[in-house]
Amino acid sequence: MGNTIHPMHGSFVNADLVACVLRVLPNFECLASTILTSKAIYNIFQQHPCSVVRSVAYNLVGPALPQALRFVRCQNAQLYSKPVDELLGEDDIQKHPVLSSEDITSLVAISTSVQELESLFSWRMKDRRYKTSQLSFAESTRFQKAMYRLSLFSAVYGRNAYESTIEPDSDQLEEIDSALEEAKALRKGFFASFSTLELRDIQRIEMFLRGIIVRAEGVYFATISPTTYSPETSFALYCAPHRVIDVYKGGLYCITERDPDMMEEMFFNDFVIWPLTSVLVDRKEPPLLPVNQKQPIIDEIVGEHDRCSQCQSDTINGLDLWGPSNWSYLWGTPPLHSITQLLKGHVGANLADGVHFLTLLRETPAEELVGGLFDYNTPAYITWNKADWLCSQCLNKFIRDHLHIWYLGQKIKKGDVIPENCWYGYNCRTQTHRLAHAQKLNHWCEPTRGDAPPTNV
Ligand SMILES: [Zn+2]
Ligand SMILES: [Zn+2]
Repeated sequence: MGNTIHPMHGSFVNADLVACVLRVLPNFECLASTILTSKAIYNIFQQHPCSVVRSVAYNLVGPALPQALRFVRCQNAQLYSKPVDELLGEDDIQKHPVLSSEDITSLVAISTSVQELESLFSWRMKDRRYKTSQLSFAESTRFQKAMYRLSLFSAVYGRNAYESTIEPDSDQLEEIDSALEEAKALRKGFFASFSTLELRDIQRIEMFLRGIIVRAEGVYFATISPTTYSPETSFALYCAPHRVIDVYKGGLYCITERDPDMMEEMFFNDFVIWPLTSVLVDRKEPPLLPVNQKQPIIDEIVGEHDRCSQCQSDTINGLDLWGPSNWSYLWGTPPLHSITQLLKGHVGANLADGVHFLTLLRETPAEELVGGLFDYNTPAYITWNKADWLCSQCLNKFIRDHLHIWYLGQKIKKGDVIPENCWYGYNCRTQTHRLAHAQKLNHWCEPTRGDAPPTNV
């Protein structure tokens, strides 16, 4: 190597080597702290600032850097409601290779969210045993490209576009109608610029994000079907798809500070699905992702053909099995209105304990709760183990048969004195309308009298 060696404070700094080291740093924090360690290193950085910064950006974001930079630059330039050919392209990184500090700040922010979403995607769609991404390089690249493209779509045609074109409290219906038609044509034009395979990747991501949003609405995840739609899912994607990671962590309402008005609903309904499927239909492609076929993005699913440890059902895909490593995906915070529906009889509406039961559920993470149920295995479940992989049907059955027993156990642990059992146990109707009765007897138990009124057992 023909580079110069500069003596510096008694040590030697090899300029080429230092430049190489700077280029492999994983992120901008490392870069900043490294170039501040010595004047010599800082000077070497100053000889190649653009290429070093670009390399670090690549290390941070990965091969989807062109898509990420396109998102960042279009968003920062506020290119709202522009036709796709007036947006910056994915080749903008070649046309304008110098990254500004604004580019870098925005890249760091979005790439963090996208990487976290990738880990979540991997956990749900590739390998249910690990919460960190197990995607191959090719799978990860497809995921990230599709994620940045979807984020760009929302940044340009989503809520910001609406706010910049529609006057607040506008009542000019004709104007609104034509704005909506125009918005739809622009959205369709955007998706038409991608190949069908790329659209399928975006479609897969859309479905995955929708699952997270529905989960955050308090629906018990094991009951969600892939065709579940709700206005909230469209609205979250219309605001910012990459922020669905915040929805996963903190619930649905952390995504936006302002609720939509009635009119805005017309603009976010089917925000992604309508234009995307319209393009597919124009191309004579099936509008929905084909069922029972290899799904986009993922080449290989780990444990795809695993069976439920108990029922061995051959209709359940390995990804829809639940065990200790993925129980925590089953419900989020605030959780699980629908878990209470799994309670037997009428005990969910018990006047004495109902509120405490809900509070306890809210405070107990899914992992702890499902794991805790196994501490109360009833004789019928003697062969069931914590480490089993269960399909949702078997898991629901197990939760249903143990949730009330678990709750009684929690009361005992808390030091409550448990009164005598009511003959009708959880089937007792009186517990739901007479507080004195609900307080006087225990209802978190099996009925011992068969003449209880008909129930939903
Ligand atoms: Zn099963
Ligand atoms: Zn009773």
